[in-house]
Amino acid sequence: MHNGEVSYWWRARGRTAQRPPLPGGTEADVCIVGAGYTGLWTAYYLKRADPALRIVVLEAAFAGFGASGRNGGWVTAALPGSRARYTEHSRGAQGVREFERHLRETVDEVARVCAAEGIDAGLVKGGTLSVATSAAQDARLRQHLAAERSWGADENIVRYLNKEELAGRLTVAGAVGALYWPDCARVQPADLVAGLAEAVTRSGVLLYEGTPVADITVGRARTPMGDVRAPFVLRCTEGFTADLPGVHRTLLPMNSSMIVTGPLSSDAWRAIGWDGCETLGDEAHAYMYAQRTADGRIALGGRGVPYRFGSEIDHDGAIPPSTIAQLGRILRRMFPVTVEAGIEHAWCGVLGVPRDWCATVMMDPRTGLGWAGGYTGHGVAAANLAGRTLADLVRGVPSPLTTLPWVGHRSPRWEPEPLRWAGVHGLYALYRTADRLEDTGRSSRTSLLARAGDLVSGIPH
Ligand SMILES: Cc1cc2nc3c(=O)[nH]c(=O)nc-3n(C[C@H](O)[C@H](O)[C@H](O)COP(=O)(O)OP(=O)(O)OC[C@H]3O[C@@H](n4cnc5c(N)ncnc54)[C@H](O)[C@@H]3O)c2cc1C
Repeated sequence: MHNGEVSYWWRARGRTAQRPPLPGGTEADVCIVGAGYTGLWTAYYLKRADPALRIVVLEAAFAGFGASGRNGGWVTAALPGSRARYTEHSRGAQGVREFERHLRETVDEVARVCAAEGIDAGLVKGGTLSVATSAAQDARLRQHLAAERSWGADENIVRYLNKEELAGRLTVAGAVGALYWPDCARVQPADLVAGLAEAVTRSGVLLYEGTPVADITVGRARTPMGDVRAPFVLRCTEGFTADLPGVHRTLLPMNSSMIVTGPLSSDAWRAIGWDGCETLGDEAHAYMYAQRTADGRIALGGRGVPYRFGSEIDHDGAIPPSTIAQLGRILRRMFPVTVEAGIEHAWCGVLGVPRDWCATVMMDPRTGLGWAGGYTGHGVAAANLAGRTLADLVRGVPSPLTTLPWVGHRSPRWEPEPLRWAGVHGLYALYRTADRLEDTGRSSRTSLLARAGDLVSGIPH
């Protein structure tokens, strides 16, 4: 079994030679730090809007080395944050509704660009399912649905599927019902980010790999190879942000771990179904997420070791055997027929979590410094919307995107260590215990332990 090696997605795709590093100090109109989805989408839309712009992207490793080449491949319209918190913005609930509409449209925008640029990322817009496998989870589904309805989300946005309706789509052992949102697509994440990097360089953007930025200051990104001087410098480093000076406590690098099976036999697929390629999650507190891959496997992820002391980031993506076993148990519990295919590859990556779990797109016109991130695990579509928004902000063009409630949003900083480590580990211990209690079926109500966790963390539901 492969463990680490960045991700299965990259191993399956195969890597071509790394692009050269920055050859020396230079000048640009816009300097973007980080070549994941955020940095690349920003470069893509900026260059399309103004082909004369000189845009330099600096990437410490290679384009798609971070979460963008390791994720679960859900191009999801889920809000990267809390409705309640974003409603505090001056535009109130209406601003949040517009934000959500833009996120739904973003799923189609990603598909449109893939088609226009010839990016074959196995994109299928099959929607997303959240299944309940216990009475407490089913009760949470129904509460969730009631909250969506009172917010104004109709049947076109989310609907309840009973056991039989769910079984018509896919068979999950023990599932009693599900919620279904049509606005989600499945992708092969590394194919998406690699295709995007190619599209961006084709358009004339200069992308330098193997070029770590040591510091960002007004008008300058400093690297060992020389400085890039530019009136706009954009930090697009999400889960890696804690490594940069001055922003150590801005985004917590939260770990997420994944496994992928070997190819499943046609008998196994007949038993499971899943012809619609919906992305799949559940209602557990320590939740899972999965997809049916374009090459006939199941890729499944979950929290694993959530966070390393001091915001330390593990770079090669290897995960401990205990996490592989934990994810394997979830896989076999939901899909017993996957035993035959075994687990072929395991890996992890970091995503950026702000203290209030709400993402930000920020641009200070006085300094020319901007950034976007903190998508709390909902970053694949959101990074596209953030990229379009940053492009408008850099160009100083007022647009419907530049007034969305995440623009200029300020999250509090995380606590210093050891409080940060203890808090995150304590929270996930609470969630795991709550899941175990609920799985015993003794109660159909959400465990008080989980509610306590939500209260302490401020995690939105
Ligand atoms: C395992 C996993 C599963 C996930 N699943 C999903 C999902 O299914 N759906 C979803 O919506 N979201 C998911 N996410 C979150 C999503 O992948 C991220 O939010 C998104 O990819 C962030 O993109 P980004 O470009 O902002 O950051 P990244 O993709 O992390 O890119 C940042 C880049 O910056 C580079 N960098 C960092 N520091 C420096 C520096 N100092 N100098 C130069 N370069 C630097 C890094 O090498 C990296 O390439 C998942 C995340 C993980 C880890």
